[in-house]
Amino acid sequence: MEFIDLKTQQGLLRERLDANIRKVLAHGQYIMGPEVRALEAQLAAYVGIAHAVACASGTDALLMALMAQGVGPGDAVFTTPFTFVATAEVIGLLGAVPVFVDIDPETYNIDPAALDRAVAAFREGDPSLHPLPRVAAGRARAVIAVDLFGLLADYEAIGAVAKKHGLFVVEDAAQSFGAERGGRRSCSFGDVACTSFFPAKPLGCYGDGGMCFTADDDLAATLRSLRVHGQGGDKYDNVRIGINGRLDTLQAAILLAKFEIFPEEMSRRQEVADRYSRAFAASTRLVVPPPHREGGEGESISAWAQYSLLARDEAQRADLMGRLREAGIPTAIYYPKPLHLQGAFSYLGYRRGDFPVSEDVARRIFSIPMHPYLTETDQERIVRALLG
Ligand SMILES: *Cc1c(COP(=O)(O)O)cnc(C)c1O
Repeated sequence: MEFIDLKTQQGLLRERLDANIRKVLAHGQYIMGPEVRALEAQLAAYVGIAHAVACASGTDALLMALMAQGVGPGDAVFTTPFTFVATAEVIGLLGAVPVFVDIDPETYNIDPAALDRAVAAFREGDPSLHPLPRVAAGRARAVIAVDLFGLLADYEAIGAVAKKHGLFVVEDAAQSFGAERGGRRSCSFGDVACTSFFPAKPLGCYGDGGMCFTADDDLAATLRSLRVHGQGGDKYDNVRIGINGRLDTLQAAILLAKFEIFPEEMSRRQEVADRYSRAFAASTRLVVPPPHREGGEGESISAWAQYSLLARDEAQRADLMGRLREAGIPTAIYYPKPLHLQGAFSYLGYRRGDFPVSEDVARRIFSIPMHPYLTETDQERIVRALLG
């Protein structure tokens, strides 16, 4: 059994993939070929936003989003410590200071009320109001909200806090492409949204890839410039410091083939998740994962990048994961160590206990196989191994 099965998908798409790859080999425009523009147009239309800017990875998408706003030394960028390292890494890479904010225990996404307290504490320079990094930073600039495991963050509440404090909002949608909230699709939230096409993400290529999305014409133009060494009117006119952040034409060609069946895969993911959720609902041994369907206007549909369960405690998690391992079922822990406790961020001076919800969830969470091609039989096996 696979944790994320990419082979079945490849089998289904093999001819389309081969045809798309052959086309690129025939025209030979390996860099910024027509497939890149076609992919940008298709994904912007799907998301329902004016601009999509393809780039080399989800990490580069986040980096470019911050660079486009001029984030640099002295700036504070608020984000969650319960995420993949790239979310906070790009902040540090630009010489800005990550200011961590704890998560909501139900959704594992950044807690908007805690964000409000964190910005206030930062402004006052008062760590008694909210834990703060022990390095100096001048201006509160931005918040990066993460749609963890595919579930969109609470952008209405985050937007209100951001507006109050004059922050711009970045949506880290690396795990949520295809998700919806209140009738809007993932990558349409915030001032700029960033997704990843890493193979295991909901829409993945066969290497690294990413994309920025924005409704803002000027921001889109800046992102396009940053992607190619800060280019101006032409290749040898450089108007700002940028990066080599282009998406390969071959990866765009692969994504175009995969995107054809992506909506179908999204509905399969819902069915798989629903089957799991029904099976686990009756169990008191495990806590049910984040809600993916809230009724009414705020209806939220996860992209189910991961299906994550919470155990009662660390020992029970070890026991449950052990049972699955014995049954030949792969599992993973996202994430075993919150970022404020990682060596890479020790310079910020955070301590254990600063973000109790993230620390508690990190000790109890684990993920089970989740992909559009998971069969009912395999799901029954997984459930039996866990609950049996
Ligand atoms: C995967 C991921 C990234 C980074 O994407 P890459 O394409 O691997 O660079 C950033 N943030 C989150 C939340 C991710 O899951």
